[in-house]
Amino acid sequence: MAESRYDVIVVGAGFGGSACAGLLAKRGLKVLLLEKNARAGGKAMTLSKKGFTYTAWVVISAPTQGTLLEVVLKELGIEDKVELVAPGVNGSTYKTSSGKWAIGPQPAPGEVMDPNKMFDWLEVKEEDREESLRVMTELTMMSPQDIDTLNDITFADWLGRYSVPRSVLAFLLGPVSDGCFMVPYDALSAAEAVKTLQDIFLRSGGVFCKGGFGKLASAYAEAVEANDGKVVMRARVEKITVSQGKVTGAVTDKGSFQAPIVVSNAGIQPTVLKLVGEEHFDKGYVNYVKELVPSWGMMGTRYFLSKKVTDYPYGALFSNDSPYTLEKWLKVKSSNPPDEITVWYEVPSNYDPEAAPKGKQLLMTGFWCPCDPQMTAKEKKGWWDKGEEMLFKVFPDMPKYIEFKEGYSTRDVSALTRDHVLPGQGGECIGLGQVVGQAGAHKPSAKAPIQGLFYVGCDAGGYGVGIHQAVDSGINVASMVQKYHLMHQAMQ
Ligand SMILES: Cc1cc2nc3c(=O)[nH]c(=O)nc-3n(C[C@H](O)[C@H](O)[C@H](O)COP(=O)(O)OP(=O)(O)OC[C@H]3O[C@@H](n4cnc5c(N)ncnc54)[C@H](O)[C@@H]3O)c2cc1C
Repeated sequence: MAESRYDVIVVGAGFGGSACAGLLAKRGLKVLLLEKNARAGGKAMTLSKKGFTYTAWVVISAPTQGTLLEVVLKELGIEDKVELVAPGVNGSTYKTSSGKWAIGPQPAPGEVMDPNKMFDWLEVKEEDREESLRVMTELTMMSPQDIDTLNDITFADWLGRYSVPRSVLAFLLGPVSDGCFMVPYDALSAAEAVKTLQDIFLRSGGVFCKGGFGKLASAYAEAVEANDGKVVMRARVEKITVSQGKVTGAVTDKGSFQAPIVVSNAGIQPTVLKLVGEEHFDKGYVNYVKELVPSWGMMGTRYFLSKKVTDYPYGALFSNDSPYTLEKWLKVKSSNPPDEITVWYEVPSNYDPEAAPKGKQLLMTGFWCPCDPQMTAKEKKGWWDKGEEMLFKVFPDMPKYIEFKEGYSTRDVSALTRDHVLPGQGGECIGLGQVVGQAGAHKPSAKAPIQGLFYVGCDAGGYGVGIHQAVDSGINVASMVQKYHLMHQAMQ
């Protein structure tokens, strides 16, 4: 049985929670990590079935060089526990003007992509190449000071300063920005977009963890116990307790625990509206929390195949018509997918041969959908069918090799991660705080207006793509909490 008093309780072992908890334990705090699931990983948990091992859905990390995923492993001294792999190729496929699906050029090992090869693939006319190169170069080389001037405009506003051909726009959005942020580009914060895309263009992407990404989160969580802390799995936190404006601990279905600091990875909205309770916050703050916009959802299908259909580890299937604007989204969101959507795919065994039985392959797809975990069966079918239609255009032989398939949806995402506390929300792919006015310099604070309460994960405290953002938050929040802990001790 776990002791009842700790320096810090961390609620949730997603990437943000497990990185933060591991770092705090390593830095000498007495940490309790509570997780409702049987394993760490949250939105990027590892699953296995019939000899296949995979992250629950399409999850690929960026950047590759200098990834924070490794920075945490190093500080915890557990680099040997997991292996990150990045083959440096991807099977992104563009629908050309003739209707043919063409795979993009691959840079030579250790080299950056020749822009002209990319423009050939995207059929950029000679007269449009200079401007296309200008937008890519200015995005990649923008100074931090200039990025700071973009906090109040959208990525669409920024891109509107250039005369970009449709195919270059489709490339920047479809496989790149739409996949990283899961927010239409006319809602996405330009500062957040440029800062993150710079990282990818300069330091590459496509990292995977052998054994599925959940293995990495589990390694972070195990570091808690290796450093004299305690991890309790299958412990759902029902209440974060507060007395006189200060956090006092957490109540779970496995007992109550005390600590002057609680770090919540359960999502800002579930933390404020459910775990702590609105009554402990100022009304203005509660309204602010309710208005935070979640990222869109991602759903898709896992295809278990009797034969290999591709050698690429991942890719995006996209066309000039596949990116979304807010207006386009409003027309299609309820079960009426547009003719063409971007479909991301991932094949874990092309990163790690051990991830599938010999000769077989698991190919997973993912595509945008509403983040509502309560989509109806009819709504879900509409999206699954559209995703499959797109996939089979690019892999026409695939249906012959399907042994079985499983759809996943925002219902599964919410069940595995954050509670549904507001209408239409809970199944978001990334988290809150990606849209203009709520991202970049306006990202929600990781420090709640209750003494000793912090948020960690994609809602607050970090920037970047998905799990990298959650780990960035884990690192930053660990430093904030460490300082708070020292001050708390000094004042006692
Ligand atoms: C379909 C899909 C595809 C994605 N693709 C990518 C990708 O390609 N690349 C990428 O980088 N990212 C991707 N992401 C996003 C990425 O997985 C997330 O952004 C990231 O994992 C979020 O981490 P987090 O720490 O914010 O929280 P979460 O993963 O949400 O973890 C929260 C944890 O808290 C626990 N918890 C919640 N409430 C309680 C409670 N009351 N008591 C105890 N425990 C609780 C949950 O069980 C969970 O373990 C994808 C996500 C989805 C859903």
